[in-house]
Amino acid sequence: MKSLRTAPLFLALLLLLCASCAPPAPAGASPSPTLSAQEEAEVDAALDAQLGALKDLVTDEQRDRLRAFLTQVLPLRQARLEEGVYEKSARETHLWEQINRLLERYTVQYLGDGGSWDYGDDNETYLAGYLIQDGAQLRPDPGFTPSGSGAWTEEDFLALWERMRAILPEGAYEDFDRFTVFTDGEDGVLAYVTASDYRGSTWEIAVDPADAEDEGWFTETVLHEYCHYLTLNDEQVTYTDRQTTDTYNEAGMVSAPGSYLDDFYQAFWTGYLDDRLANPDSYNFFLRHEDDFVTDYASTSPSEDIAESFTYFVVYPPQEGDEVWVQKLNFFYDYPELVAFRTAVRQRLGCTD
Ligand SMILES: [Zn+2]
Repeated sequence: MKSLRTAPLFLALLLLLCASCAPPAPAGASPSPTLSAQEEAEVDAALDAQLGALKDLVTDEQRDRLRAFLTQVLPLRQARLEEGVYEKSARETHLWEQINRLLERYTVQYLGDGGSWDYGDDNETYLAGYLIQDGAQLRPDPGFTPSGSGAWTEEDFLALWERMRAILPEGAYEDFDRFTVFTDGEDGVLAYVTASDYRGSTWEIAVDPADAEDEGWFTETVLHEYCHYLTLNDEQVTYTDRQTTDTYNEAGMVSAPGSYLDDFYQAFWTGYLDDRLANPDSYNFFLRHEDDFVTDYASTSPSEDIAESFTYFVVYPPQEGDEVWVQKLNFFYDYPELVAFRTAVRQRLGCTD
């Protein structure tokens, strides 16, 4: 059990810290109020969640510095959530940025600097557009105008569609009404899905033939994108500007209670989403929480995490262990319809458990 610091000692420590560092203390690092034992325990748990792999590496002084910010920000968050307000106040945003700044600094010091995600430029050329009938048959979309051409033929495009169909069970594409072929050159984006309507009831899937050669990568990408459809369709989420605090939200999107994404968020992300959102492009968040994620890309958001975890739930044999990434794969075994989906895909891929 951790010893409780008294406020005067804490203040003295902070003053000492401020006096000894070259850069000025960040605004807002005021001493924490006296906390009850339960509040102390809550702050400690929150602190451990933010620190991840840094937990046993940071000095007591560094831990206390973070602690001072968390002691201020957690009551602000609690009060906001109780009022049902999604948007953080300027003060709360500022405090999370300060927390993130310290976490980033300590990550660089102890784990190395991962830098930022480089998403590249998305110079996409649209090669072909098809309407999907009954989730299976394609016909050219009369409203589609190509923005360029490549070294592929119509046969190549149709073959891509058949490969995508071959991976997923019969009927999987019933809610898909558009198939688009695009390219951004080799690497970059292999595929994406996007809602065709504002409610998310019909969907488009798009593929880049320049990246489609590697069969394993192609399969994993189709599963990843399909999970976005499974978790972001109109039965799972509502697209609205009226954000709530009851379930997982992104700008313009509110997940339903009991949805895959909200269940996943509640199980794995409530501890550190605010830190992720304070600096969404930093790779260092992944370095702090490497054991929580099945891939580095999964650490970019709960939506990407569930898509990556779902992909490995399907392609991996059942995993054992206490690591959070293993728990994430096991998460899906609680949903019989997803287990049935997994079995059907694995039969198609020729895998045996
Ligand atoms: Zn994705």
